[in-house]
Amino acid sequence: MANEEAEETNESNWSEVCKNLRLEIGEAAFQSWIKPMTIRSVVDGAARLSVPTRFMRDWAVAHYLDKLGILWNAIDATVHSVEILIQPELSSQEVVKKTSVAAAAEAATSAAVSMASTESRRSFENSTSEISAPLDVRFSFDNFVVGKPNEFAYAAARRVADAPSVTFNPLFLYGGVGLGKTHLMHAMALHISQQDPKRTVIYLSAEKFMYRFIRALKEHNTVDFKEMFRNVDVLMIDDVQFIGGKGATQEEFFHTFNALVDQGRQIVISADKSPSDLEGMEERLQSRLNCGLVADIHATTYELRLGILESKAEQLKVEVPQKIMEFLAHKITTNVRELEGALNRVVAHSQLVGRDITLETAQEVLHDLLRANDRRVTIEDIQKRVSSHFNIRVSDMHSARRARSVARPRQVAMYLAKQLTSRSLPEIGRKFGGRDHTTVMHAVKKVEELRDCDTSFAEDVELLRRMLEG
Ligand code: ADP
Ligand code: MG
Repeated sequence: MANEEAEETNESNWSEVCKNLRLEIGEAAFQSWIKPMTIRSVVDGAARLSVPTRFMRDWAVAHYLDKLGILWNAIDATVHSVEILIQPELSSQEVVKKTSVAAAAEAATSAAVSMASTESRRSFENSTSEISAPLDVRFSFDNFVVGKPNEFAYAAARRVADAPSVTFNPLFLYGGVGLGKTHLMHAMALHISQQDPKRTVIYLSAEKFMYRFIRALKEHNTVDFKEMFRNVDVLMIDDVQFIGGKGATQEEFFHTFNALVDQGRQIVISADKSPSDLEGMEERLQSRLNCGLVADIHATTYELRLGILESKAEQLKVEVPQKIMEFLAHKITTNVRELEGALNRVVAHSQLVGRDITLETAQEVLHDLLRANDRRVTIEDIQKRVSSHFNIRVSDMHSARRARSVARPRQVAMYLAKQLTSRSLPEIGRKFGGRDHTTVMHAVKKVEELRDCDTSFAEDVELLRRMLEG
């Protein structure tokens, strides 16, 4: 009876976890990876789930284990870890445990073996350092493929991680999404705590930092909060663009930051933009961020993408035909995360249906991704195309000239930039000779008005749009 009750509670907790996770990761990912899971048991704070295939297990462990843990713990505080097992192999007892930075560092040495083991388990509980986020042991230096676009950032990260004391302070890593910032930071943290377990490393996202700080404010506990950070050797904060604009947190970040730098502690920071481009970031904070070493990660090249695919295929222990890898490296150009996702999908498909990967199936399995990658138009493309269409110089897109003959095409280009790219208004403004975002907003409105009352103008715009979307 008690057993049945427990089972019922587990089931209902699990469906609650599912509901929340679905909101976080979206319907498509949920259907592919979470839906096929079944709950087995909850024993001694460990929730056990099972999935039908090894590939699904590896994928879920890599992408959803931490989230599952956090969500589950929020619903049932007695649950401290989640394990994902392959259905026919439920009895196997190889376990990868990850409880803290130190444990993660230890595990890093045996990561290759562990990831291939039949059962993976990582705990999201942090025993040594309550505040540091868990590290992913797969994000090691060894697993980072170096190429032209990231060699500088890699060298800087390596140098800081290798040095027994402070080197470049702060080290500021920046680059677009999915280009390896978080990977490099984890690699540094793992490396440092492996080399010298006595050095305390705190790695956390800027969002988490803010959340902690706000909680401390509410609990009138800011002294402890400050102490926590002021006693670390290495502080790493990921995605600081999220700190922009939040008054008190930014202030606190600045003070913590200054105190640590003054005490000779190493700071590593990442963001999606350079310090000078961070919106809503105070000037004195920007200049302080600028005075260490700033290293950017550029968009991937074909060679790097191919190298990454080869390395990932090896990690997955699958044979992927060279032709398929070249195809993916050509087609998926946005970032490494998408590239990895594409490879995983192709591999998953072939394993699920039990057939070799061919170009046709790859195209079929990835049709949505391929379409999105094809459609990506840059602001520069738009400026070139619109200039040549209206017979003006490309430089007029950036110039201050206000004559109608150049101002109108410029507005059209801004309008198309808004429609066809995912750039924000301020970003678009900057690309048009550093104009204000209100100018872009005005341009968009103006073009919409004209389009509605002038059919030949509307046709022009439509033609341009179609040519750009090609
Ligand atoms: P960011 O933090 O810049 O958004 P991540 O570090 O999360 O990006 O990287 C996204 C994914 O791509 C991760 O799975 C990461 O391991 C992988 N990745 C990025 N760059 C590389 C690289 N140079 N070599 C191997 N994997 C990479
Ligand atoms: Mg990141």
